[in-house]
Amino acid sequence: MRWRESFARFMVGRYGSDALSRAMSAVAMAFLLLSWFVLPQVFNTLALILIVFSTFRVFSKNHQQRYKENLFYTRQVDKVKYYISKIKYRNNQNKTHHIYSCPQCKQKIRVPRGKGKIMVRCPKCQTEFMKKS
Ligand SMILES: [Zn+2]
Repeated sequence: MRWRESFARFMVGRYGSDALSRAMSAVAMAFLLLSWFVLPQVFNTLALILIVFSTFRVFSKNHQQRYKENLFYTRQVDKVKYYISKIKYRNNQNKTHHIYSCPQCKQKIRVPRGKGKIMVRCPKCQTEFMKKS
């Protein structure tokens, strides 16, 4: 119990763990695993750098800077997640729909597949054009 108390006292005012430091630890573990198979020196060094920086962040008292770093990291992750969900959505759409661009205004138009030759009217500029669906 004494150890726990003194650790709690030591952690007062320190930043602690966040999404970025957890991710850095996970990547460091992955690098350590990788280092068993390829380029041991490179991956060991990278893992060490990540562990040192992640530990530094956890014990840091500069909350504002750590918060900024974490925010930057979570925004990048969100961007990647958004990009992946966009690709997934497009792949699903491609199974049931064609996406054509209007020859006039380049508006993207979604047309169901498997209806034969159809006349497509652009909802934006009303241009009509023939397409195979
Ligand atoms: Zn158009």
